[in-house]
Amino acid sequence: MINVTKSYLPDLDEYNAYLKGIWERVHLTNDGPLVRKLEDQLKEFLDVKYLKFCTNGTIVLQLALKALDIKKEVITTPFSYVATTNALLWEGCTPIFADISPDDYNIDPDKIESLITENTQAIMATHVYGNACRIEQIQAIATKYNLKVIYDAAHTFGARYKGKSILSYGDLSTCSFHATKVFHTGEGGCIVTNDGEMAEKLHHFRSFGHQNDTYFGVGINAKNSELHAAMGLCVLPKVPELITARKERFGFYDSRLDFSKITRPSLLPGMDYNYAYYPVVFESEEILLRVMDALKADEIMPRRYFYPSLNTLDFTFAPGSDTAQPCPVSEDVALRVLCLPLYPDLAEADIDRIASIVNLVVATVPESV
Ligand SMILES: *Cc1c(COP(=O)(O)O)cnc(C)c1O
Repeated sequence: MINVTKSYLPDLDEYNAYLKGIWERVHLTNDGPLVRKLEDQLKEFLDVKYLKFCTNGTIVLQLALKALDIKKEVITTPFSYVATTNALLWEGCTPIFADISPDDYNIDPDKIESLITENTQAIMATHVYGNACRIEQIQAIATKYNLKVIYDAAHTFGARYKGKSILSYGDLSTCSFHATKVFHTGEGGCIVTNDGEMAEKLHHFRSFGHQNDTYFGVGINAKNSELHAAMGLCVLPKVPELITARKERFGFYDSRLDFSKITRPSLLPGMDYNYAYYPVVFESEEILLRVMDALKADEIMPRRYFYPSLNTLDFTFAPGSDTAQPCPVSEDVALRVLCLPLYPDLAEADIDRIASIVNLVVATVPESV
C-alpha cells in the first residue's frame, strides 16, 4: 500500500544513544537539555531569532493568539487544514474568511481590505503546501490598519522566501513537527518571533505561565519532552537530503503527468521550495473521484487536502448566520484538488504507475463529466 505520505524514521541506534542520555540524567521534560539543544539547532538551521519548541502545530496557533491578545475578528483563509480555523474558534475569535487566489490557493490579499471592520484585530494566513503567501502585500494592509499578522507555516519547514526562512515573516509564525511533515518530532511544533520580549512571554505561556516563583499570567502546558526532542535531533541533520529526495520525486511527477487537463498551483517568485506536497487539480470533482477510485484499486491512497473549504463547515459560519461566508474560489478548488503520494523513499516505478493511472483516467473521461 502506498499512502499519501510516510514518516521518515531515523537510525534506531542513533535514537537509542539519545535515550541512553535521558536515562542517565532522569530528566524527561520541563525545558530539558535536549529540548534546548534542538531549539538551538533549529534556530541555526532556519536562521531565525527566537524559536520555542512546543507540543504540536495547533497549540502554537493558540499561543500566538493569546500572546498577541487577539479576541475578536481575524481575517483568515478558508483553504487550510481545519486546525487553523479551530485555533481561532477555540480561543473565542471570529474567523472572517477571505477567498484565495486561483493561482496559488493562498489567501488573496486583494480580498482582505473590504472585510476589515472596527473589530478586526489580525490576519491569520497559511502558506499553503509550503509556498509563501503574498507577504509584502499582506504586511502593507496590516500596517495600514494596525493589524497583527500570524502565519500558519506548518508546511514550510526548510522553505525560504527571498533568501530567508518563511518562518521569519509576520508578527508570529508557527510550524508543525507532526510525523507527516517534512521535519518531524513525532508530535511537535514551534513558534517563531524576531522580538525578544515576545519570546520571553511565549516561554512563560508554554509552561503554565510560570516565571520563577510567581506567575507571568494565564499560561498553558505547551512544552515538549526530551523524547520528542531526541527524535528531532536525529531527523534534523537529514532534512537537506530528505528535501533533495522530495525534489527528485517532484520532478518525476512533473515529467510523467499529462498536464493538458490537470493544473498545479504556481510558486511565488523568490521561493526556495521544500517540496512538501504534490497537489494536482482536475477539471471537475467527478474526475477527481474517478482518479481516486482507480488509484485505490491499486492500493494507492492519495488525499483530498484541503477538503472541504473551511468556510463551508457549519461551525465556522459567522455568529448568528446559517450560511457559509462566500469563498467561491476556495470552494471550487477544494472540490477538485488531490495530493498525490510524495515522500523521500517513494520509488520511481511507483510514481510511473501513479502517473499512468492518473493520465489514463483523465484521458478517458467523457466530455460531459
Ligand atoms: C499539520 C497542520 C497543522 C496542525 O499541526 P499539528 O502539529 O498536527 O497540530 C496546522 N495547520 C496546517 C496547515 C497543517 O498542515
